[in-house]
Amino acid sequence: MSADGSRTPACDEAVRARIAAARLWAAHRAPYLASAVFALNPVILEPALDGDSGEPVADPGFRAFPADTRWNLYVEPGTALATPVEEVGWWMLHQVGHLVRGHAARSPVRPEPGHEVGHAAGAVRDEEAHRWNQAADAEINDDLEAEDLRGPAGVVSPAELALPANRTAEEYVPMLDVLVQAMGRGGRALTEAIDCGSAVDGQERAYEESGSGEGLTRLDRELLERSIAAGIQDRISARSEVPSGWRRWAGERLRPSVDWRARLGATIRRGVSTVAGQVDFSYRRPSRRAAAYTGIVPPSMARAVPDTVLVIDTSGSVTDDVLNRLLAEVTGIIEGVAGPDRRLRAFCCDVRPHPVQAVRRAGDIELTGGGGTDMRAGITAATALRPRPDLVIVLTDGETPWPGQRPAAHVVVCLIGDAGHAPGWASAVRVPADPPRRVPVKGES
Ligand SMILES: [Zn+2]
Repeated sequence: MSADGSRTPACDEAVRARIAAARLWAAHRAPYLASAVFALNPVILEPALDGDSGEPVADPGFRAFPADTRWNLYVEPGTALATPVEEVGWWMLHQVGHLVRGHAARSPVRPEPGHEVGHAAGAVRDEEAHRWNQAADAEINDDLEAEDLRGPAGVVSPAELALPANRTAEEYVPMLDVLVQAMGRGGRALTEAIDCGSAVDGQERAYEESGSGEGLTRLDRELLERSIAAGIQDRISARSEVPSGWRRWAGERLRPSVDWRARLGATIRRGVSTVAGQVDFSYRRPSRRAAAYTGIVPPSMARAVPDTVLVIDTSGSVTDDVLNRLLAEVTGIIEGVAGPDRRLRAFCCDVRPHPVQAVRRAGDIELTGGGGTDMRAGITAATALRPRPDLVIVLTDGETPWPGQRPAAHVVVCLIGDAGHAPGWASAVRVPADPPRRVPVKGES
């Protein structure tokens, strides 16, 4: 309760009643997420008041009931009172989606540890954050729509935009960029700007001050996610209906060995999307559904694939067996993005880079080297290649000096084991020092 009396007990009570009703609605509509919905911690903000009547008015900036990664749900009283119960409940399910799918940790605009601001500034960063929010929304709303839970007007819907279903946020980013460019020429906006809070992008908001010290701890979240995933598995065993995206999530959540693979795949795909010059597009095969929705004809899409070079740490501290298993993973992911028969260039590197190898398969890479480690030499050699690569993927235990400045190519570091570190300018994903052998999953790309 505020000291200045702007929040009355009656207003607070009405807001709490609405949240309680919305929770029941959400738990009833998606029973497999009931424990998640009840784990959300509503933080009621100071209301925006109408100058004349003194009554709370809705602030559109809070229409998504934004969340933070501690599962606090920020409720702006005027917005809550003006929003139907079903819509508040829909946003609760939506925010649970951002939280359990780790969108904040996957966000390209998440501040690097130790840095308050990220690499881009101002409008560019806002645009990137906004696009990530839309892409993450597309990933979640898909599964809500599969349950006949249609979102409120103005939210992103892959079906209505004629985008392919069941993709990840990383995959939706370049597709949305193309649509936005196409629609910009028609003077229209793709969707309304909706801000889902730091749960979607990892950037703290000013209003989160009021939720500090509240919400779930890291351990709470870990246990909660496991119990949600276990509940979904039980429902699947009992042949209850669960949308496919949630089935996949639960399976991955309960198998940590799949977890790092998913992260590795997401990181590499994100690197590919970042440098691909986004997406190549042509107007040869327009999408009729998209045209029907927006009134303009968006281009059909084909992904441009960046030129990729692998730099492999063959110093004494990493075994060939581990490298071979990881190379199979990495080249499998690149093949999934780029198609088969894609030629790769690879350097083995210890204290110096060995001769470049042009290969088609992981098994064709000859691992040579030993002794000390200096990945600076390997990265310098990779970026000096002609044609110059767009993306450099480094496999290393991270116990190496790194270039002091961002190299001329986007760098993804696959960090083997727990000991080493990756530089702030690279995208990094930690992989186990003893990865299990790859077992192809049916339907996996
Ligand atoms: Zn959202």
